[in-house]
Amino acid sequence: MHQKHQSHQSDKSAITTLLEHLVRMPTISGDLATNSAALDWVEAQLTNLPLQIKRLEYNGVPTLIATTIAVTNPKAPRLWLAGHMDVVPGDPDVFNPKLNGNRLYGRGTSDMKSALAVFIYTLQQLGSSLHQYDLGLMITSDEEVGGFDGARWLVESGYRGQAMILPDGGTNWDIELKAKGIIWYQITATGTSAHASRLWLGDNAIGKLTQFLAAVADLYPAEPCSDPDHAHSTMNIGTIAGGTAANQVAERAIAHIDIRLVPGELISTRHQEITDLANAFPGIEITRLVAEPAFELRSDGALQLFADIAAQITGHKLSSTLSHASSDARHFVAAGIQVITTRSTGGDHHSDQEWIDLDDLTIYYQILRRFIEEWAKI
Ligand SMILES: [Zn+2]
Ligand SMILES: [Zn+2]
Repeated sequence: MHQKHQSHQSDKSAITTLLEHLVRMPTISGDLATNSAALDWVEAQLTNLPLQIKRLEYNGVPTLIATTIAVTNPKAPRLWLAGHMDVVPGDPDVFNPKLNGNRLYGRGTSDMKSALAVFIYTLQQLGSSLHQYDLGLMITSDEEVGGFDGARWLVESGYRGQAMILPDGGTNWDIELKAKGIIWYQITATGTSAHASRLWLGDNAIGKLTQFLAAVADLYPAEPCSDPDHAHSTMNIGTIAGGTAANQVAERAIAHIDIRLVPGELISTRHQEITDLANAFPGIEITRLVAEPAFELRSDGALQLFADIAAQITGHKLSSTLSHASSDARHFVAAGIQVITTRSTGGDHHSDQEWIDLDDLTIYYQILRRFIEEWAKI
């Protein structure tokens, strides 16, 4: 018991040191030089390990891939450890990690440099035994802006694999089995301009737009709704702009909306619905900007094994959740990879108070280590 406690403490302090270093690098999405330098640093942590390291770049966005020599197809190991280096912007202060008790505060502590620190430490600990594992590490640097030049490009370039650990979602040990899809529309209303004193001579685009938006909103539950899990599709009006002056009848108005779809609902069905509605409103035109399907994962195989190991080590059963946001998981799931998305206790990601529980993160390492030993050993 004493020895177990000691190894927990030494694992924890090593992982914390790696994480602090990662947080200090302000790898904001779009800052390609800083992201690239951070990947250099990761590469340096992996030197002298039996790994083949590759640096890739698409549209200037850097990616690091490291695979063990046991991997027969370097684009498709049995198991990927995957994550993103980029973070959302914040005050300079959030790039100074702060320790408070068992919590480390700072940008990326939860989303998701904590996982990168655990990945690096795990590979270092497996050390020379890595040749016995069919395993790869993949770090992209554009997840927070859609993952199009990272995850999606890798999938388009033929990257596959059986299972993937991607701890970029799921709150506090819940496993993310389902994720909502996304559709974005731009809605343009066109009217006829006139002076406000004789507005009957014109046709107000803002009025048309708000009436149309109200009709779209009627297709979705009003919030707050009675379902605590919000297992339904949603619609948000994100922007609205129009008109030129108070004394003019607006000739043009534009809005952007974001629809989130639950698994089982099709993009095509929702698209037909809003298209039919737009046809009933003269002067309304819709343009679809983004369309990403919802997904639901198989819960057998690697995912079942991971959940069993986690339950043994943490002492409680992992429950499954529906994700309302999106992550790079959607790109990999579309390629047939079984993605395991759960993370240890942390919170307030994307805020200046972002934090991670370091004891729990060390437990995540123990789970991951055992999972790798059982799933990826050849
Ligand atoms: Zn993330
Ligand atoms: Zn709701």
